[in-house]
Amino acid sequence: ITFSDLGLAEWAIKTCKELGMKNPTPVQRHCIPRILSGQDVLGLAQTGSGKTAAFALPILHRLAEDPYGVSCLVVTPTRELAFQLAEQFRALGSCLNLRCAVVVGGMDMINQTKSLMQRPHVVIATPGRIKVLIEQNPDLPPVFSRTKFLVLDEADRVLDVGFEEELKAIFQCLPKNRQTLLFSATMTSNLKTLLELSANKAYFYEA
Ligand code: AMP
Repeated sequence: ITFSDLGLAEWAIKTCKELGMKNPTPVQRHCIPRILSGQDVLGLAQTGSGKTAAFALPILHRLAEDPYGVSCLVVTPTRELAFQLAEQFRALGSCLNLRCAVVVGGMDMINQTKSLMQRPHVVIATPGRIKVLIEQNPDLPPVFSRTKFLVLDEADRVLDVGFEEELKAIFQCLPKNRQTLLFSATMTSNLKTLLELSANKAYFYEA
């Protein structure tokens, strides 16, 4: 199976080739077609499995089709992971005019608010900082009201650290008709609870 078989656009296939990604990894083979078709996904996958491209590629494909109507929020547990995710989104979306904002703790909040106001296509955030920004800026929620994709990356870790309250505040700003993509190294009881709250039945991938 090649990237072309998964339903991705020509530009995406070309970018994969340029980045040295010859063939899709198992998590990519299984999740990309499902995400493209609009399904929610719960993927149990370790770092190194290619899980980032498994959600970034179909999201970028959809963004390229509708750059004004679609945006994506990625929540991840740490700053370091947020910057790594942004790097992968930028590399995979290098031939798109992608606006990507990273919103994490320990950085200037005024600039972060400004970058959110510029209607980025992709927002990559840690839970604590995004919650504070939402609370301090009553005009921010419209930025999120057109979010079509919510990704929880390393969801087990996000939930472990006790970010339930932050997640609830974030979820409240997002439209109900979004697609939710959860990626986690392990299945935890917190993750099960979160899944039960999700309106749609998720496709379950396990390596
Ligand atoms: P991840 O599991 O998302 O942390 O990805 C681990 C690394 O694998 C990243 O540096 C990617 O650039 C790389 N990678 C992702 N997909 C592929 C692929 N299909 N072929 C080769 N390398 C890949």
